[in-house]
Amino acid sequence: MPGQLKWRHRFQAHVSRWTVPREVILDLLSRTSKHMSVKEIYASLYKMYPGIGLTTVYRTLDLLVRAGFINRFPSGDGQNRYEFKSNKKKEHHHHLVCIKCRKIIDYSDFVDEELELVKKTEEILAKKHSFNVLGHNIEFYGLCEKCK
Ligand SMILES: [Zn+2]
Ligand SMILES: [Zn+2]
Ligand SMILES: [Zn+2]
Repeated sequence: MPGQLKWRHRFQAHVSRWTVPREVILDLLSRTSKHMSVKEIYASLYKMYPGIGLTTVYRTLDLLVRAGFINRFPSGDGQNRYEFKSNKKKEHHHHLVCIKCRKIIDYSDFVDEELELVKKTEEILAKKHSFNVLGHNIEFYGLCEKCK
């Protein structure tokens, strides 16, 4: 699979050691469109690799977030969610998170006002805090069509 090879190369360029947990976690997240919690990731990996520890999963996720391979965001239930970042479908998007059924909607058809607000906010924050803004996560919490 060429897509897979691509991130493998990127990954190897970034860190010297390619370990099994990193590989299987990236593999798992790259195959799903779901936003998974640590517990869900651990549960699916555990079926295939009963030797894997929860601490390893946490550590590996941290590393993958720092290396820019996956995205982490709070889902409003006290648990972070993780998603794969580099395939086309997962290009920059914002989230609508239903706090009742936990459905997470990805959207990238941003409204103009939203883009403008984000851009302006980043500029002002950069100036105010002398901070170099490199990115953002945006999540809106509420009730989905079914739950409201
Ligand atoms: Zn954005
Ligand atoms: Zn809902
Ligand atoms: Zn998403």
